[in-house]
Amino acid sequence: MLALAMGAIGAAALVAAIALGAITGYMHQAVGAMMTATESVHTAQEMEVDLLVHSRLRDRIGRAQLEGQLRGWLLEIRQHVNSLEEEELVDRVAARIDAYLAASREAQLAGLSSEEVAEQVATELEAAFLPLEELVHLNVRQSQRTAKRAASWDRWATYFGVGVTSVLVLTVGWVLLWLRLFAFRSVLELETAMRRFAEGDKSARAAVMGARELRGIAVRFNEMASALARQHDNQIAFLGGVVHDLRNPLSVLKLSTAALDPNRPSPNAETAQKTLGMVKRQVERLERMLEDLLDAAQIEGGHLELRVAHSDVKELCREVVETFRESAPQRELRLTSPDASLDVICDPLRIGQVLTNLVSNAIKYSPPTSRIEVTLERSGLEVMICVTDQGIGIPEEDRGRIFEPFRRVGASRGLVPGAGMGLFVARRIVEAHGGRIEVISQPGAGTTFRVHLPATASSGPRS
Ligand code: ADP
Repeated sequence: MLALAMGAIGAAALVAAIALGAITGYMHQAVGAMMTATESVHTAQEMEVDLLVHSRLRDRIGRAQLEGQLRGWLLEIRQHVNSLEEEELVDRVAARIDAYLAASREAQLAGLSSEEVAEQVATELEAAFLPLEELVHLNVRQSQRTAKRAASWDRWATYFGVGVTSVLVLTVGWVLLWLRLFAFRSVLELETAMRRFAEGDKSARAAVMGARELRGIAVRFNEMASALARQHDNQIAFLGGVVHDLRNPLSVLKLSTAALDPNRPSPNAETAQKTLGMVKRQVERLERMLEDLLDAAQIEGGHLELRVAHSDVKELCREVVETFRESAPQRELRLTSPDASLDVICDPLRIGQVLTNLVSNAIKYSPPTSRIEVTLERSGLEVMICVTDQGIGIPEEDRGRIFEPFRRVGASRGLVPGAGMGLFVARRIVEAHGGRIEVISQPGAGTTFRVHLPATASSGPRS
């Protein structure tokens, strides 16, 4: 839009410049024509005076001088001729002057008196005056015509000037109005939205208006503001989750330590053992939560460190499954793996952490009597670990989001303890090994998490 207006202003200025050049050229030409006509009129009048003086003069030398002068005027007047009509007129003037001079010379030779000579050449003199007068009138008429045309050009130039100036004023006015209504307004709206957002109004969004580029900036700002607001909400939810999750082990710890209060009678050995076991589990739980938080902070800061080594993934899975069998003996945990060992270059602690998280989730999100299967197999250059449960499942629309930090979805929210960091950390660890993690789920029927890891050194780990 702005480019169009600038183009119109430029075009109007160009047309005005060309027109001004043409008018100036014409005026220059008109002035030249008028000066030539004035010169011709002046010369013709000089010739009339010379003829008159010549007809009265008796002195032969003076007359000869005047005759030379007359021929000079004739030559000069010819230079100013600018039409056929004028050329014919000048020819007639020359012929009549010649006739007058011849008659005058003849009368002089006849020895007549001055009055008699004047009387004898009066007719030729008058005949010479007539075309000279005509020449004067012709040039006056030419001058008048030129002046009339110049006045007409002047009038049109005035109209044109007023027109071009109006177009320029209107265009500039329109541009200013447009800038104020659209360009500047959208910039101001954007600035207001940014300021409100910076001041803490997370709902502040910019109006999408104005030029294409500004509309693009407003859309980007709105997307960014929505993302930040979402992140902010997630962080608040996460804080709530962390507080909620910390409160559970802390209340158990409080109750347990109350049982060991020195002001109360000492519990028997069996109760003390049970209480200490409970304290130990809660401390471990707290420790795991803090580790998850620390890991997430490290990953977000890009500081995830891997200590890679040749490791047997089959052994790693066996250890994790055994640990869970001990801590949750009522759950049926099945491990299916090939006979041969499965060598992977990885950080065994980190991969163990991933498996622990997946099995722990499978336990958390499935009924206590249901079965959990851990399957291990080699496919091509990959080792695939699957953790399958028969739990609540994950709705399709949530599957892409469960790997985001602080993300807890569906029925798990509020019912099952957790901070929503486990899968985020797990995915980053697997990806840092050059692998990938995917989820297949059927709400109400169960979930399978698949971890793919490169099995050979050539496709080994990255960090
Ligand atoms: P947490 O379990 O601590 O909430 P995770 O990052 O491990 O955090 O899991 C993120 C979310 O993914 C969980 O809150 C839950 O909603 C969902 N989820 C993970 N594993 C399962 C599973 N096996 N079955 C059903 N939902 C699951």
